[in-house]
Parts: sequence; C-alpha cells; structure tokens
Amino acid sequence: MKYISTRGQSNSLNFEDVLMKGLAGDRGLFLPEIWPEFSLEKISNFMTMSYNELAQELMAPFIGDLLTSNELKDIIKKSYSSFSSSEITPLTQLSKNDFLLELFHGPTLAFKDCAMQLLGSLFEHFLKRRGEKITIICATSGDTGAAAVEAFKNKNLIDLVVLFPKGRISEVQQRQITTSDSANIHSLAIEGNFDDCQLIVKNLLNSDDFCNKYNLSAVNSINWVRVMAQVVYYFYAALKVGSPEEKINFTVPTGNFGDIFAGFVAFKMGLPVETLCIATNSNDALERFLKKGEYRVEDVKTTLSPSMDIQIASNLERLLFECSERDSKMIRDIMSDLSYEKKFNIDLKTLNKIKDLFVAKSVDEESTKKTIRYYWSNYKKLIDPHTAVGLSAGRSIPFLDGKNIFLATAHPSKFPAAVKSSIGIVPELPLNIKNIFEKKQVFTSLENIEEVVKEYFHKNINN
Ligand SMILES: *Cc1c(COP(=O)(O)O)cnc(C)c1O
Repeated sequence: MKYISTRGQSNSLNFEDVLMKGLAGDRGLFLPEIWPEFSLEKISNFMTMSYNELAQELMAPFIGDLLTSNELKDIIKKSYSSFSSSEITPLTQLSKNDFLLELFHGPTLAFKDCAMQLLGSLFEHFLKRRGEKITIICATSGDTGAAAVEAFKNKNLIDLVVLFPKGRISEVQQRQITTSDSANIHSLAIEGNFDDCQLIVKNLLNSDDFCNKYNLSAVNSINWVRVMAQVVYYFYAALKVGSPEEKINFTVPTGNFGDIFAGFVAFKMGLPVETLCIATNSNDALERFLKKGEYRVEDVKTTLSPSMDIQIASNLERLLFECSERDSKMIRDIMSDLSYEKKFNIDLKTLNKIKDLFVAKSVDEESTKKTIRYYWSNYKKLIDPHTAVGLSAGRSIPFLDGKNIFLATAHPSKFPAAVKSSIGIVPELPLNIKNIFEKKQVFTSLENIEEVVKEYFHKNINN
C-alpha cells in the first residue's frame, strides 16, 4: 500500500515511513492511495472473530508486505494484552436500539490507548529492524501524553518527551505522565497553556537541523496509524449488533476529528454506516461548519470535557480531501486561508457530500451534567463528561432506523471533579491504576521558552 498527502506535493511513501514521519513533507496528512474494500459477504464472515483476529484482517491491507502475517499477529497480541477487558472494547446495551461502546479499558482509561499501544509495538518492531533510535515529542492536554507514556515506557530505542501545561491537567493525568519510573520517559511541565506546549513542539518539528539531530518524530492524532487502529472497534461493535444487515448510527465525542474519521474509514471499507454524529462541547466550530460551509476558529473555551477543548480539528483535512474527490489544490488553498484568516469556506457540493453521512451537535455544560445525572439515576451507570457529550448529542438526533452506538471515550474516574459536580459521587479508580497515588512523581518544570526546551534536549537526550 502506498500513501499520498492531502496537499498533493509530497512523494508517496509506504506504511513504515508514514508511521515514522507522522506529517507529510508538504505539511499535509497521509492517506492510503486506495481504500481496501470488503464485500458484505466478507464482512458477515468477520462476525465470529475476536478483536485481535478482526484487527489483523482490517489492518493487513494497509500495511502490505512490510510485516509477515505472524509478525502482525504478535504485534497485535502484545498491544492489547494490557487491556483489562478480554473483549478489548466491550459493548453494553442501554435500551432496545442504544448501545455504549466502552473504549476505556486500556492502561490509561481513555480511548487513546487503543491506538497508542499499537503504535508503541510497531515503532519498536521497525526500529529494531532498522537498528535506529528515535525521539518522540508530544504536547498534551492530558490523555495523549498519558497514553504515550504507557505505550513507550521501557522501550530502549525510543526517548519520549512529553510537554504538559503545568497545573492545568487533572491529578490522575499528571500522575500517569510522571510516575512511569522509566529512564526513557522525559516529562516536562511547561509554565504555560496547552497551545504554548503545542507551539514549541510544532516549531521543533519544523526545524530540520533539530529533527535530524534527534531523529524526531510525533505521535499526535494526525499520525495515520492511530486512525487505522481505531477503525477496528467500529467494525467490532457494528458486527455485534447485527451488521451488516442492520444499519448503524455512530455518535462520537469529537475534538481533533481523529476518532470519528476512523468511522468514516470503516464506511469507505464497506461497513454499512447510516450516520456519523459529531458530538462536541461548546467549542462548536464543527456544528457551525456543517450548517454553513464556513469553518471559523474562535478562542478555545474551557469545559468539563477538556480533551475536546479544541478549535482546530486537524483531521477534518482528511475528510475534506475525500469529499472533494481528492482535490489537493483546494486543500492547499483553504489551509492557507485557515492559517492567515482563521477561517475557510468550502463549496456546496463538498458540503452536501459531507452532510450525506455526517450530522453535528454541540452540547453545553448544563446538558453535559444533566446527561451524567440521567444515566446515573435511570441506568445506575457512571459516565465521564466526554461520553456524556456524545450521549446528549446523539439522543437529540432523530436517527431514522438501525442501531445506535455511542462511543464512551474515557472512564469516569479519570474526570472525578465533573462527575462529582453532577451527581455528588466520586468515581473510584480501578484497582490496577490506584497505585499511581503512592508512586513518586518525576518531572522537570521549564519556562515556556523554545530555547529552554532545546537546552533540555542537549543535556538529556543523547543520540
Ligand atoms: C482525545 C479525546 C477525545 C477526542 O477525540 P478526537 O480523536 O481528538 O476527536 C474525546 N474524548 C476523550 C476522552 C479523549 O481523550
């Protein structure tokens, strides 16, 4: 399988290079040159498969001959052995047609583990084969950094540098990032906000000399391999509720658009998806975009669902590329508008194509809390604020027919304050995670200055 860039000015690359590079040379995002497609008959045959077997079937075409079937099998097995549920992503029924897809049984209690664990194993495999070392840099508002630490700890060919905004992430998140006790993990508390961390990371990644010196790579959600890994649970859940006969409506708590784009990929691969509902908190750029065809960036609002406090949904670029018949000139134009004018417009044809499959709904803070209360009093179910945004949005959409699957993206104990303020109960951390409160935190506080972070690299990362 070859990969192309959404901006059309980069050489096509194979899976291994796409994994290692993250972003294309022309600053575009990678997508496979063609979509592997499965017939309905073939999809029916997937019904009896375990999560790992299904993952192998769905991912093999994207990887091509870079891994043997046994190598891929071992990598998948290793990646998902750290999950606390044997089903990896179990489904629970809420009512006749409504189901909750629990994506929080990985080691850091959020859906990001589903992809990051696989990335960790894949990086290790390819680096061993190449005889190379790499430095991965990651800015985080909490969940991505925690998932990355768990995925890359104790891997001696990889140094991981995580930049988090000091004092602005939850205590559970900070402890997950700082208590790994692994020499290759570097946790940096930056005296600034998430955007400051992100800006430093972007500048370092854009500096060729610095990148070459440290063999720098990135694992934020623009990395194609994260999207690929997330396609699996869309198929897995749909098959459990009667797909391919049944039509499926998925509702996805959305920030950077990576998770819901994986749902779109499942659709392109042949899964009969009826609707993809984009659920956002009061950062409502996507809802406004679907109404008017104009994407406009505003200031980020702080909400109860912080992992979705995002205005620039980076992976939307991939959807726009697909729905405009892969018009890379158009993508270059609108991305330039976005960086200079903080907005762009798309044509009606592309917009209608998106609206054929997608709906969008933003949910305010009061409705988020009300939804947490509703599921607690009616179902005795504790849900986290991100999941609540999804349930609130999805239930307001009159889905016509079929089954409705709501993605539950985090465990409620990861966001105890929001749950407590809604129902007065503090959700318990699972036993295997509780010990982070006894462990010693190791991190370095740094000023919000690029040169200071560079200095940290010079002193602490040796390549
Ligand atoms: C990252 C995250 C999201 C948003 O996912 P995207 O792929 O960025 O759209 C939603 N919920 C939780 C708990 C997250 O950590």
